[in-house]
Amino acid sequence: MCPGIPFVISAPSGTGKTTVCKTLVSSDDKLMISVSHTTRKRRPNEQDGRDYHFVSEHEFRMLIEDRAFLEWAEYSANLYGTSCDAIDAPLSDGCDLVLEIEVQGAAQIKNRRQDARFIFLLPPSTEELERRLRGRGTDSLEVIERRLAMTQRELKAVRGFDYAVVNDDLATCVSSVKEIIEAERAGATNEVRSRYSIPKDC
Ligand code: ADP
Ligand code: 5GP
Repeated sequence: MCPGIPFVISAPSGTGKTTVCKTLVSSDDKLMISVSHTTRKRRPNEQDGRDYHFVSEHEFRMLIEDRAFLEWAEYSANLYGTSCDAIDAPLSDGCDLVLEIEVQGAAQIKNRRQDARFIFLLPPSTEELERRLRGRGTDSLEVIERRLAMTQRELKAVRGFDYAVVNDDLATCVSSVKEIIEAERAGATNEVRSRYSIPKDC
């Protein structure tokens, strides 16, 4: 069986990564989401082992020492990481994987996995990004401010990605990312590479 493709999907917090990724996998049997480890507190709607492996900082640092992570990063005062276990088995079973991660982790994967493809989701505007982050209702004001303060630096990272897709209308965004995934699977990427190329002004 051919090994699967890892698709790295990044965006500033609040853009809609989780929403887009969950919608993508719900209609694609060959696509799975990699479950990361984090030291962040579990949100009420989240489940351990499904949304994240929620661990203490001590446990996370032990995993770093054991070289268990393909990549890891500190983000907004918490640690996040993709374990090698989370991706190796599904990929060798021929499943494609979505890695929904922030930009420092994406840069590490770029150096370590030649087979990975990189898709950046752009918010329609900074005002809409702020509205979504506040509207989600999962984070304190302090956390929201901290996340918003990182947006401009995160947006600059789009230059290192293969594709950029604006998440304005959700259905349109999901269907654009689907097109990219299908083109990568088929090995016929010329058209999608030009349609979803990185905007010159980024
Ligand atoms: P991220 O994972 O990038 O932090 P989420 O997927 O949690 O973002 O989305 C943040 C909020 O924005 C959620 O309340 C979600 O329902 C909403 N959202 C996501 N995509 C869209 C969209 N295209 N239009 C309007 N709201 C959206
Ligand atoms: P959240 O706390 O909103 O779930 O995630 C915060 C940020 O961490 C998001 O940008 C999310 O994509 C990112 N993230 C989630 N898992 C990982 C991971 O395994 N590695 C890295 N580097 N970032 C992650």
